[in-house]
Amino acid sequence: MATVYIGLGSNLGDREHFISEAKKRIRDLPETVMLSESKIEETKPVGYTAQPDFLNMVIKIETDLSPHHLLDMLLAIEEELGRTRDIPLGPRTIDCDILLYGEMEIRDNRLTVPHGEIRNRPFVLRQLVEVDADLRDPVTNEYYREVLENG
Ligand code: ADP
Ligand code: MG
Repeated sequence: MATVYIGLGSNLGDREHFISEAKKRIRDLPETVMLSESKIEETKPVGYTAQPDFLNMVIKIETDLSPHHLLDMLLAIEEELGRTRDIPLGPRTIDCDILLYGEMEIRDNRLTVPHGEIRNRPFVLRQLVEVDADLRDPVTNEYYREVLENG
């Protein structure tokens, strides 16, 4: 089993509904158990700023799904929940990103893990640390709480 951290985000429609529906569907994935979750935080859009605020949270699961199989399942959940991709970084009913997959480092045309935005987004760092105070960056071995404190 791998311990995996997933970032959920929504800024379109009934944001709470989409977040909780995504959570439920991830919990019901095969070979997967839900371990814990952060609080939901409201955040300002990054990059493309002319869009509504987001709700974001991090969930921690254990799964036997491979990284790419898990990605396929997450993309299917996004699609089921009405996600469209009109504007890159634009508004979305739900975004499900694999932040960390165990200690794995993956860089191919479909997956970048650890997720490239962890260190650029204080709320992601905050939520990871909230779920696991002693979590480290598997690549640099730094504690995320220290990355957060040191900006
Ligand atoms: P973003 O989350 O950056 O706004 P999208 O949700 O539209 O972008 O995802 C676009 C693609 O990003 C996905 O089809 C997937 O192949 C790729 N991707 C790369 N790394 C990851 C990751 N760690 N988690 C989720 N998707 C990823
Ligand atoms: Mg995404």
